[in-house]
Amino acid sequence: MLKVFTAQHQAEAHLVEDLLRSNGIQAHVVGDVLLNTVPGSLVIPGTSPEVWILNSDQAEAAFDLIRDFSSGEPLPEEAGPSWTCPKCHEILESQFSECWNCGTSRPGDPSVV
Ligand SMILES: [Zn+2]
Repeated sequence: MLKVFTAQHQAEAHLVEDLLRSNGIQAHVVGDVLLNTVPGSLVIPGTSPEVWILNSDQAEAAFDLIRDFSSGEPLPEEAGPSWTCPKCHEILESQFSECWNCGTSRPGDPSVV
């Protein structure tokens, strides 16, 4: 296991995870408190989700992909702008059709945020 990326928020961590996985790298989000919430467990505010890869031999490829990602190149499947959840004001990447935080569906017009 090797940490390759520290995300600002869950959506970003999952974007990187998907990016790596779609390129054949087994990646996995650590510190994903919102998706791994167990009743009664402590949620630590401010904990950044991290992306780890299983095979450290793939680190170089992973860093290349993340560098492209971080440089602002849009992913092919990510054409639209990010949107803000009308309920909890979480900022979500365009590929999410509903809020991962509270489950609210994306508003019909993504330009209205
Ligand atoms: Zn929400």
